[in-house]
Amino acid sequence: MYVATIVASAKKRNLNAETLNEVRANLADVSRVAVIREGIAADIYFEQIDLGYKPPQGFDFIIQKAAARKKKLLVCDMESTIIQNEFLDEIAELGGFKTEVAKITEKAMNGEIGFREAIEARVKILKGMPESEIRALIETRLTYNPGAKELLAACKKAGVYTMLVSGGFTIFTDAVTRELGFDESHANRLEFDREGFLTGVAPPLLGKEAKLEIMAAQAKKMAISLDDCAATGDGANDLPMLHAAGLGIAYMAKPKVKAEIKNQINNSDLMAIGYAIGLK
Ligand SMILES: [Mg+2]
Repeated sequence: MYVATIVASAKKRNLNAETLNEVRANLADVSRVAVIREGIAADIYFEQIDLGYKPPQGFDFIIQKAAARKKKLLVCDMESTIIQNEFLDEIAELGGFKTEVAKITEKAMNGEIGFREAIEARVKILKGMPESEIRALIETRLTYNPGAKELLAACKKAGVYTMLVSGGFTIFTDAVTRELGFDESHANRLEFDREGFLTGVAPPLLGKEAKLEIMAAQAKKMAISLDDCAATGDGANDLPMLHAAGLGIAYMAKPKVKAEIKNQINNSDLMAIGYAIGLK
């Protein structure tokens, strides 16, 4: 049996009986419809996937095998997923190198150039920036994406282990980890000289393969399978973990990611992941 979790925007709250009936009529052998949150989220249990069916516009639609929906580990990308920012771009803007750096970021996120190569090239442009100014971005710029706090609180309550895994920098993952209560985080560490000016990024660089490796290592430690893991992200560097996790969800993702990962959040918010894995 499959479950389709259908989620509306929390602002619109427009998931009504009419929409649910329309979806129900288009899925094969529906056994049950269960409202999770009035106007916002519902589960539809059904027996067969009709590959030709297009769900109504404006809602997110996460489909998985019903028996495997409960997850024990959630791994999240940070930048443009849990938070709105891409901090390399923010640092670049601060230093007046915005255009130069954003071009490399875009290429990396679309998978046109190597991830490690891209980090090194961008950090090189930003060499000499003061640590105090970079740190101040936490206060002035850090913005959470809708549903992030709610999702983490729901995971905590349900005992789901949460990891923040970022190709970004520990300065920012540390702040986000503290604020949202992630159990663990992994990212790259920027290096500064004694006067506090940026010199580079510490090896080994956490690249594209690392996110999947970290998720797999944690699953092993917890004696669970990758099927017990959920993962979310938006960029090409998230693809290996999104493919490998029992439930991989593309969040407001880049075209390359949307093309490969069928479960997507494009209309609602991060709490859709919580609803999909059976949290309230
Ligand atoms: Mg990202």
